[in-house]
Amino acid sequence: MISFDLPRTVDEINPRQWETFAPYFEELEKRPLSPDNLRQWLTDWSDLTRLLFEAASLIYIEKSQDTTDKEREQAFLDLINDVYPQAQVAIQTLKERLLAVDPASDALADMTMVLRNMQNEASLFRQENIPLFTEAAKLENEYDKVTGALKADWNGEEKNLSQLGLFLNDSDRSVREKAWQTIAGLWLSQRETLNDIYGKLLTLRQQIAHNADLPDYRAYAFREKGRFDYTPEDCLTFHEAIETAVVPAVNRILERKKKRLGYDALRPWDWVPEKGSMVDDSGGDPLRPYQGQEALIQHTLNIFNKLDPQLSRYFAIMAEDGLLDLDTRSGKALGGYCSSLPLRNRPFIFMNGVGSHDDVQTMLHEAGHAFHVFETADLPLVWQADPPMEFCEVASMSMELLSAPYLTSQYGGFYTSPQAARARIEHLEGIIAFLPYMAVVDAFQHWVYTHPQQAADAHQCDAMWENLLDRFLPGIDWTGHEDSKKTGWHRKLHIFTTPFYYIEYGMAQVGALQVWRNSLKDPVKALSDYRQALSLGGTRTLPELFASAGAEFRFDTEMLTELVSLIEETTAELEKQTLS
Ligand SMILES: [Zn+2]
Repeated sequence: MISFDLPRTVDEINPRQWETFAPYFEELEKRPLSPDNLRQWLTDWSDLTRLLFEAASLIYIEKSQDTTDKEREQAFLDLINDVYPQAQVAIQTLKERLLAVDPASDALADMTMVLRNMQNEASLFRQENIPLFTEAAKLENEYDKVTGALKADWNGEEKNLSQLGLFLNDSDRSVREKAWQTIAGLWLSQRETLNDIYGKLLTLRQQIAHNADLPDYRAYAFREKGRFDYTPEDCLTFHEAIETAVVPAVNRILERKKKRLGYDALRPWDWVPEKGSMVDDSGGDPLRPYQGQEALIQHTLNIFNKLDPQLSRYFAIMAEDGLLDLDTRSGKALGGYCSSLPLRNRPFIFMNGVGSHDDVQTMLHEAGHAFHVFETADLPLVWQADPPMEFCEVASMSMELLSAPYLTSQYGGFYTSPQAARARIEHLEGIIAFLPYMAVVDAFQHWVYTHPQQAADAHQCDAMWENLLDRFLPGIDWTGHEDSKKTGWHRKLHIFTTPFYYIEYGMAQVGALQVWRNSLKDPVKALSDYRQALSLGGTRTLPELFASAGAEFRFDTEMLTELVSLIEETTAELEKQTLS
């Protein structure tokens, strides 16, 4: 037998060329399989996948840390042009080999969900789609580049979108307005370019679906995302439940804000749904919880220490091993993410922190994802540690809510008690306000991908987006900024780069709110259920994972009404604490 001596770290290989990985895949393709060596074969394949995924993760991380570095961009392009396409073919061959094995084999006893996913992926695979994926990845990268390069002069200093975004939280309305107008101007300056990128993506995605013998890209995306436990119709039902149970609650929040602030109307710079920032009506100064990465790490560590010593150990490992890149810098890609490095079983967190409360929230959120990586580290095969996305976000969103009681400096957190109460109100109201926006983003894509002819015309996309805003977010007065209203879909990265990936956030929020509800009654049990559910990785169905975390996988009006009431009761309590 050929030896299967994999490199132990990515440092030992050149991850930018397929030849690095090819001999190992070839060996796995050729190795004779028997019931006796099936498990070893799977383990070897899993280890090779860890090496490949870790290499890819590192290339992606390095590119996002400096989008102006040509060498890093080239590494990424090599990966998507050379390594990925050939890896996909090789992986497909291995999947077909595995799926030909008797599924009752002992070696596969813990692989039910993995086999279900692989069966699905293998049946969706089409050789002719591979160049189309490459083409789409380039266009998605183009969106990142165009938006990452957007910069404007702000009082004599050049600022990127993340840096300008900080001023959307300013307590001075004229500063918010100026920041919003600056940002809106930058986006509109790229209107044609972004329409063009999206148009090309739509054509490609439709072709990908047709090649896979599916009627449209929605049908394809549901299969590709492994959405076995809900249908497009369930999503539409969720939208309706949001319209019934959540939109009125958002309107109550907006009315209170208008009254307290003495505004006739809330303008787009008072509520920026794609950023989740809503004008603060508490009368206090804007929260500036920390300065610089070290302070963010220390306070976060303190909070986790109060919540659960094991979680705090996980976070400390990340800090010690350089797995946190948290401050914004010129040239960094936008946004924040948690990536996994499956070879060393560690997560990596990337952010664009500027010292705002949003950054604290992002930190807690991404840490929840990171804990998921740590909790699944003992699962033997790489695919078992890959949970469904809807549940990944339960891990992160629950962590935001479970950490909330420890935000005060009394626990080593960021705030005085009244500030923490304000921050928590803002968070809870942000959750309510997010759901209708989520429905807009999801409903928009349901329409786009089931109406490809109409959606090929960017003006019709604009019109649909405007309709959905009127349905779900009627509380913003856009007078004078109609173009920015219609083109709001440009400002949502997911619509371009991860199509249909958004309802996961809504579903997960409903799950996370239930975890939080449970924690109000029994915090110890809620946290232990949470960690237990995380440790299951991808070895259970979505309803089972939710159940393990103490939540129901349900998105109807009754469920949303219950959770909205709980939030409204809690914020009323917290209001009293803001006065103390
Ligand atoms: Zn997340």
